[in-house]
Amino acid sequence: MSAKHVYFFGGKTADGDGKQKELLGGKGANLAEMCKIGIPVPPGFTITTEVCAAYYEQGKKIPEAAVPEIDAALAKVEATFGKKFGDTSDPLLVSVRSGAALSMPGMMNTILNLGLSDASVEGLAKKTGNPRFAYDSYRRLIDMFGSTAMGCEHEAFEHEIHSLKHEKKAALDTDLSADDLKELVKRYKAVYKKNVGEDFPQDPKKQLYLAINAVFNSWNGNKAIEYRRIERITGLKGTAVNVQAMVFGNMGTGSGTGVAFTRDPNTGENVFYGDYLINAQGEDVVAGIRTPEPISKLNDEMPKVYKQLCEIREALEQHYKEMQDIEFTVQDGVLYMLQTRTGKRTGTAAVRIAVEMVKEGKIDEKTAVKRVAPDSLNHLLQPQLDPKSKVKPVAQGIAASPGGATGMVVLDSAEAKALHEKDPAVKLILVRKETSPEDVAGMHAAKGILTSTGGKASHAAVVARGWGKPCVVGCDDVKIDEKSQTITIAGKSVKAGDYITINGTTGDVMIGKVETINPSMTGDFSTLMTWADKSRKLKIRTNADSPADATKAREFGAEGIGLCRTEHMFFGDDRIAAVREMILAESVEGRRKALAKIEPFQKKDFVGIFEAMDGLPVTIRLLDPPLHEFLPQKDNRAGAEAVAKQIGVSVEKIFERVEELHEMNPMMGFRGCRLPLVFPEIGEMQVRAIIEAAIEVQKSGKKVFPEIMIPLVGVVEELSILKTQAIAVAEEAIKKHGVKVEYQIGTMIELPRACVAADKIAEEAEFFSFGTNDLTQMTFGFSRDDIKGFMPTYLGNKILPIDPFQTIDFNGVGELMKLGIQKGRDSRKAKHGSHLKIGICGEHGGDPDSVVFCHKIGMDYVSCSPFRVPIARLAAAQAALGDTVRDK
Ligand code: ADP
Ligand code: MG
Ligand code: MG
Repeated sequence: MSAKHVYFFGGKTADGDGKQKELLGGKGANLAEMCKIGIPVPPGFTITTEVCAAYYEQGKKIPEAAVPEIDAALAKVEATFGKKFGDTSDPLLVSVRSGAALSMPGMMNTILNLGLSDASVEGLAKKTGNPRFAYDSYRRLIDMFGSTAMGCEHEAFEHEIHSLKHEKKAALDTDLSADDLKELVKRYKAVYKKNVGEDFPQDPKKQLYLAINAVFNSWNGNKAIEYRRIERITGLKGTAVNVQAMVFGNMGTGSGTGVAFTRDPNTGENVFYGDYLINAQGEDVVAGIRTPEPISKLNDEMPKVYKQLCEIREALEQHYKEMQDIEFTVQDGVLYMLQTRTGKRTGTAAVRIAVEMVKEGKIDEKTAVKRVAPDSLNHLLQPQLDPKSKVKPVAQGIAASPGGATGMVVLDSAEAKALHEKDPAVKLILVRKETSPEDVAGMHAAKGILTSTGGKASHAAVVARGWGKPCVVGCDDVKIDEKSQTITIAGKSVKAGDYITINGTTGDVMIGKVETINPSMTGDFSTLMTWADKSRKLKIRTNADSPADATKAREFGAEGIGLCRTEHMFFGDDRIAAVREMILAESVEGRRKALAKIEPFQKKDFVGIFEAMDGLPVTIRLLDPPLHEFLPQKDNRAGAEAVAKQIGVSVEKIFERVEELHEMNPMMGFRGCRLPLVFPEIGEMQVRAIIEAAIEVQKSGKKVFPEIMIPLVGVVEELSILKTQAIAVAEEAIKKHGVKVEYQIGTMIELPRACVAADKIAEEAEFFSFGTNDLTQMTFGFSRDDIKGFMPTYLGNKILPIDPFQTIDFNGVGELMKLGIQKGRDSRKAKHGSHLKIGICGEHGGDPDSVVFCHKIGMDYVSCSPFRVPIARLAAAQAALGDTVRDK
């Protein structure tokens, strides 16, 4: 541990600075930094995270060496602020605030007004000439200190204020007089004594040390531990404690408190964005109890303060080169800053802010690329409401998180969660007065969130923004009646289960359904993508089975198709009969006859895709089939009868074949390359359709690069046999038409054996594509469809750090991939003198962490679903640029 335990800040100096987040916590580091750049901050000091670690090492005791430093720092605060802690005529009061290197819900709430006692409260009353304020502060301290530091029930205090209000016939807290509050202090002290077993401490130093202990204790409280576990936060020393001179936003109409962002965190627009409340303290703004005023209105109420605040906004952005989230308090016309940190924002805002900051000369293009979290682009890929819709808004709330959502009204979070579990496709809009952490699961299940109270910084707004989920808050035209399960929107009654629509970009609320339309890539989004493309080394392809998907993916910047599956092409209404005929055929001739009917359809499919991908490579995987899925199952007699009639066989015959095709373990059954090995005519038909389509499209003047991919190869012989067959078919077609087509034949690497034997396989394969879904299944021996029962336990007990179907298991599956790449590349080079092209086409190709891994192990490309293409482009650029600079 370093020799220094306590870091002072105040005036225009500070012992620490903004870089010391590990040691001083985010809050402490930034308070120091603000002082250093001359921003007004009430003086205070930060006890380091190392002291927290030492506190635990010494059996929950503040290390002795820290105590004199704390006392000295407190004296310095007194000198700077010109008041004395515990003074009975004009006391210094302080707040005690927790703060780790990363912001962490679940730790102790801040205690305000520390240092008040029976004696000093009188002094405060006299000094301020405001006894009401003094006693209100004191009773708040007893409540906060009792419930957050000493384990009293907050409810017990609430009970006292309710009964007093009842006795005094006071409707609001503010209707209580100074004498009433004096009485309340007496009752609160009784509650405290009953719960804690001793009197509320009159010695301010004792209060302070008890509060510091409580902050340290909260570091290992259940909620904080749980949060660190879920977010996989490790390696932090502990929490810091910030002790800071109190300033009061609740001293009358010349005072107030607010929270703001230096830019709009929804849209990214360069405007000052926030809320404030006159005559209020601390968290009153975010609690959603009173609906606050927009920050621009402060210009009317306190023009001087507003001007100063705008200058500070500018100064902070100039200094941090980042959008800031700030807290401030005005005491009798004097402005103080209490917090600044990197502001959370939607994906849309992240992109706009990054691009505009480059244009403003604050950051460079590479920094802009590193700053945007790839997954946050989801927000720009969210559906928007159809602007041509005729449905008119009936009410307007505050636009809290952009995007449009339509769904059925649900009033209860638990019910939303249950409905979603029953049917994941269900569209719900969660409607609440306000939300709290208990609502999170229901909010997650809903497509959008609507609340009748609360401002831009309310719980609902912040959480929805984090997820990129449309949200409208503070819509006071919405009245909720949980009992009758109805809401009224601007006087019109809507039942739970009825459809409503919200527009989180404008704040509009509509009754009924509105169509949503898919987004496109333009403006800042496309600018940022261009910058990303300058840095990335990986190519990005897409998984697409239709011309429509292929076209969409190209718009998003796909540089080819990495996986075109052919299974679904067999299901179309126009061909399913021929497919069934093929499956039921008893001879090669019968099968060929049926396949001849399918072939023109297959060719047409490929023509469409080749046309859409003009000039770019297209990897087509041969059929990897669950054949039985094409036939009606045993319990479906009616279906079987219909099929029997259609293709002219008996129902018994169909069931017989279904029986034959039944597998104990289809995942490891008659699939992949095993099918064309047993029935070569199937593979031949597919290859012919691919090459004929390529020839046709090439003749029309377009460029085609077909790559034929043979699935589930584990032994090189499987590949060499099928490759020989494919070449024969392809060359025959090329000869017949007299048109040369460049094509390649490669394989999917999705079996552990294929990784180990990659050197052999690469002698035949012209490319590798890692099928990481199957490779993960086969490596772990987990069936992806059957992990529900045990995966939660695996993750909960840290048997696995993360679901390997979401992010590549670097240490197992990843090692096999590295082996496959190295053996494959070496062998291809040695035998053919050429570079073996390697990509990935499993769902991991759209997962940012997996993309970074693919970059590191030297792949040529990743392939993902069309809507993940921009995400993969950005992740690939960040991988190439090295460490990202995003705040966690
Ligand atoms: P959180 O991490 O939950 O935001 P904070 O420590 O920032 O907790 O404090 C909670 C509220 O109390 C904030 O609104 C903050 O501005 C206010 N606050 C904290 N310390 C002081 C102080 N010394 N004077 C006035 N208000 C304070
Ligand atoms: Mg805060
Ligand atoms: Mg597979």
